[in-house]
Amino acid sequence: MSSRTPLMAGNWKMNLNHLEAIAHVQKLAFALADKDFEAVEVAVLTPYTDLRSVQTLVDGDKLKIKYGAQDISAYDSGAYTGEISGPMLAKLKCTYVTVGHSERRQYHGEDEAVCNAKVKAAYRHGLTPILCVGEGLEVRKAGNQVAHTLAQLDGGLKDVTAEQAATIVIAYEPVWAIGTGEVATPDDAQEVCHAIRVRLAELYSEEVAAAVRIQYGGSVKSGNVAAIMAQSDVDGALVGGAALDIDEFVKIVRFRD
Ligand code: PEP
Repeated sequence: MSSRTPLMAGNWKMNLNHLEAIAHVQKLAFALADKDFEAVEVAVLTPYTDLRSVQTLVDGDKLKIKYGAQDISAYDSGAYTGEISGPMLAKLKCTYVTVGHSERRQYHGEDEAVCNAKVKAAYRHGLTPILCVGEGLEVRKAGNQVAHTLAQLDGGLKDVTAEQAATIVIAYEPVWAIGTGEVATPDDAQEVCHAIRVRLAELYSEEVAAAVRIQYGGSVKSGNVAAIMAQSDVDGALVGGAALDIDEFVKIVRFRD
């Protein structure tokens, strides 16, 4: 069994205002009160407008739930209207920030250079990037999922040091499985997650590859999480829709119970 602590992260996308966020995190914390957070890490990735409320709650009640943002500017400050910077997220004590989610790539044209700049911006400010990679349906049908995903990995990690890379989280999210209800089979998830780990060993070292947590994301639910988590190279789940349903998300976090 791997020594990596599973990371179960809820990506709320553009859902839950700051009041709803408080209620949601309170309910989550209550439902997970007996959970050993050393054995499984739980994070919520919220809209920017929720972060301050979540921070206050987590700090005030000493909750073990971690939190973070869904995007970060590549720049640290300046005339970038609408952007949120690494220093701002660090000041809110965010732990994580997703980079290159497929919805950012699709709707905001984020390419490898942008994702790479955002990964570096996260590291400049002590944030842990969750770098999202994964193929679309056409690529999967052509059988090119590994090559496609590894090219995204290579691009996202350009000039990232071994010390930094050892702490990154990679989320393998086949685009055809996101929000569609069509989950990858455990073997499909393992194939690409394993290829990612092999590539990390090639790019850095066996030690770095062994340290990095690789999540699967794409229609994870309470009914399929255990089979996916049983794969040797899957170290967690990035959960979208099901993260908005407290009961479902709690069951996902409790995949071992
Ligand atoms: C996601 O948003 O990263 C995701 C995996 O969504 P869903 O779980 O809804 O497929």
